[in-house]
Amino acid sequence: MALTLLRGGMRTPISFGSNTSLFFTVLRPRLARFTARAESAQATEPKAVPKSIQLATKEAAEQKTQGFEAVIGIETHVQLSTVTKAFCSCPYSYGSQPNSTICPTCMGHPGTLPVLNEKVVECAVKLGLALNCEIAMTSKFDRKQYFYPDLPKGYQISQFDIPIAKKGYVDLDLPVEFGGGHRKFGITRVHMEEDAGKLLHESGSYSQVDLNRAGVPLLEIVSEPDMRTGIEAAEYGAELQRIVRYLGVSNGNMQEGSLRCDVNVSVRPVGQSEFGTKVEIKNMNSFSEINRAIDHEITRQILLHKEGQADQIVQETRLWDESSQKTFTMRKKEGLADYRYFPEPDLPEVVLTTDYIDEISKSMPELPEAKRRRYENMGLSMQDVLFLANDDNVAHFFDSTLEHGADAKMAANWIMSDIAAYLKNEKLSIDETKLTPLELSELIASIKNGTISGKIGKEILTELLAKGGTVKGMIEEKDLVQITDPSAIEAMVDKVIADNPKQLEQYRAGKTKLQGFFAGQVMKASKGKANPVLLNKILGEKLNGN
Ligand SMILES: [Zn+2]
Repeated sequence: MALTLLRGGMRTPISFGSNTSLFFTVLRPRLARFTARAESAQATEPKAVPKSIQLATKEAAEQKTQGFEAVIGIETHVQLSTVTKAFCSCPYSYGSQPNSTICPTCMGHPGTLPVLNEKVVECAVKLGLALNCEIAMTSKFDRKQYFYPDLPKGYQISQFDIPIAKKGYVDLDLPVEFGGGHRKFGITRVHMEEDAGKLLHESGSYSQVDLNRAGVPLLEIVSEPDMRTGIEAAEYGAELQRIVRYLGVSNGNMQEGSLRCDVNVSVRPVGQSEFGTKVEIKNMNSFSEINRAIDHEITRQILLHKEGQADQIVQETRLWDESSQKTFTMRKKEGLADYRYFPEPDLPEVVLTTDYIDEISKSMPELPEAKRRRYENMGLSMQDVLFLANDDNVAHFFDSTLEHGADAKMAANWIMSDIAAYLKNEKLSIDETKLTPLELSELIASIKNGTISGKIGKEILTELLAKGGTVKGMIEEKDLVQITDPSAIEAMVDKVIADNPKQLEQYRAGKTKLQGFFAGQVMKASKGKANPVLLNKILGEKLNGN
């Protein structure tokens, strides 16, 4: 009874008009006070920021953490790449025309009923398993209630006390350039929920709402407060991104908001068991920003402690401002009770069977951590391992190249140097080039068995990447077979020496560095085809001997 009253009474009195195909619902200025999180934030910029904080540099940050440690936990929202939304059959694609993928259900019209998209459950179970979680055989949806103009129902369908997955962990390796090292961070829970719409603040006196995103399925992943530095937090986020991409549940794109991290940071004196007051930071669009925002916030809080102003650290949400490289106050945090969660009466419980979970478990791909350990066991360096396992397309290409018989270290070298440089220049992913794993393995074999030189190999590779074709075909067509006949090389060496008497005189007078010059000339004469080892051996004998 109470629930029925609440549902009827909580309906938000915003008039969206009766037409469901509206393009840009306009919010009148009287609603402006609700519209802009970022705008209201500027009004509450802290008044007295100690100068020392503004001057804090990264080095200062390292010095000043002495005696204190940071405690960091992260809430991550991952937008699922399902064909339709969580509770209706609307599609969603980022960047489509505002309010073009909406229906009465995701617009929260009275009388509509949500129907759960089963793909959302599948994605949640996949991610739960990938994060080593316990999967709840029975879970339920709850209403999280708050008013905001981009939330037409006046509540968000989420999971409160029984999330679909909990008590997991994630393993990762820190980048070598940040000191490396293995880390294991706890996962508190993973739950299913829906996204809200989006407010557009492009005009001066009013804001517009786009409901395309309303009802798009999300998984929220809550970590344990296990991280201590900006880089650990950034790598945790990057590992989640890798996992959702490996699983194919989300594109994990931060720029499009498909993966969003809200970070909680507090500091405490080393040895103290209670946590300090935590501050939430939002608005970070890359893992590098997460790293810098956290390190800035840690420094800010530690300095306040050291200056006896710890009482200025209040529970609040701060935004990261990339241009000034600082965090600033956005708003004070609402407490948990404000949301008045209660079980969603329009959706049944989510009941899973062991068979269902087993089936998903069997369909899981090899995950980043398993891949890294496998590559490590091949004898590859950690730098190679991290590079190859970072992108599942690259990892797949590498694995396929090895299946065709290529040597692991040589394949890794080609992928990480010449191929990576090409991909970067052309802004392509490895599966968008014309090179196949089979041809890369052929290329490696042709160099290894001496058919072509490494230099010619690089030339062939560039063509294979851009135009495709086969290594064998290219070697034949262009007559690129390496010259390994000593007498042919000797003839070229003789000619080059005869043509450069001056340099020969200088060489014999002690300027032995000139061997490089002669080698270059011979290589040029051979059109890059002379076997370099033979060339240098013969050249050395000629220069020093007769
Ligand atoms: Zn819809």
